[in-house]
Amino acid sequence: MKKTILTGLRPTGNLHLGHYFGACQNYLKMQNDYDFYLEIADVQALTDNFNNPEKVRKNVTEITIDLLSTGLDPNKVNFFIQSKIPEIAELTVFYSNLVTVARLQRNPTVKTEIAQKKELFGNDGESITYGFLGYPVSQAADITAFQGELVPVGEDQLPLIEQCREIVRKFNSIYGETLKEPSAILSETKRVKGLDGNDKMGKSLGNAIFLNDSEEVIKKKIMGAITDPKKIKKDDPANPDICMVYYYHNLVNNKENIEKVCSECKKGSRGCVQCKKELIEAMNNFLAPIKEKRAYYEAHPEEVKEILENGTKKAKQKAEEQMKKIKKAMKIDYE
Ligand code: ATP
Ligand code: MG
Repeated sequence: MKKTILTGLRPTGNLHLGHYFGACQNYLKMQNDYDFYLEIADVQALTDNFNNPEKVRKNVTEITIDLLSTGLDPNKVNFFIQSKIPEIAELTVFYSNLVTVARLQRNPTVKTEIAQKKELFGNDGESITYGFLGYPVSQAADITAFQGELVPVGEDQLPLIEQCREIVRKFNSIYGETLKEPSAILSETKRVKGLDGNDKMGKSLGNAIFLNDSEEVIKKKIMGAITDPKKIKKDDPANPDICMVYYYHNLVNNKENIEKVCSECKKGSRGCVQCKKELIEAMNNFLAPIKEKRAYYEAHPEEVKEILENGTKKAKQKAEEQMKKIKKAMKIDYE
């Protein structure tokens, strides 16, 4: 029996380099050997976009196309839409009894995200909604609805997987051994930084290079990327470790070029403009095959629709089976 993988992305915008290196690379590696469910988490996206349903709706297709463009094979990965699996919403209600409000408020990921969303949740998070505070519970429901054993994610998600494991243990201790404790699987690049030097490149943070950015946009973004502020003149030696341009060279360039960039930067024998131009070229080369696949799926929307329909059908079956076991354990399995 193949182990089950469950992971998800929020349809809040297009995929960027953070997703690619933080999560998708692992999906690509793992798609051959596991029973793989990939959730387009529209319900979770609504927790902080409840006032913008058009955005979420539009991005369901967008993000599916992005994921397919990275090389994921729809014959191996079940793409499904979260809201089409009502079992997840049901489970969220059941699990909400197994977690305290204080524990959710202490969750580091929730805390960081509340701080980033001042406009929506107020300066001290005083306007935080019940739904947003509870999204880690709904994520535990996502994972366990499919008996997800392995969850490939970026580092920002680790506290949420831990929260899920706690809920699983609590459930099993009360209702009997029913659920599996999932493990997070991190990529080699656990966390990709933003163009502004922020610790995390994020869709909602305005600091991302998207997989479908045009060459013109990429040029503009890379030309504006943060470099060592102490380097004023072209031939000043600089510290590549605090330069975002060097940082992205590391992601998309080859080993030889990366070493060259590093040593020339330290010696002061390379200017930032030249270095940025080289990065633009490497970035465009890296993105070219992804964009080519994207163009295919954009021209075949009926294929994308069918991929989502088929994946959702399989996901629904799996969640229904799991739900029977859970309701039995909770003694709410009425005939
Ligand atoms: P949002 O700001 O709407 O939450 P996001 O960019 O955080 O968007 P998600 O859909 O929440 O994207 O995350 C999808 C997956 O991508 C998760 O596994 C997450 O850990 C991973 N991920 C997102 N951004 C990064 C990043 N900068 N580095 C590494 N992994 C990332
Ligand atoms: Mg996120």
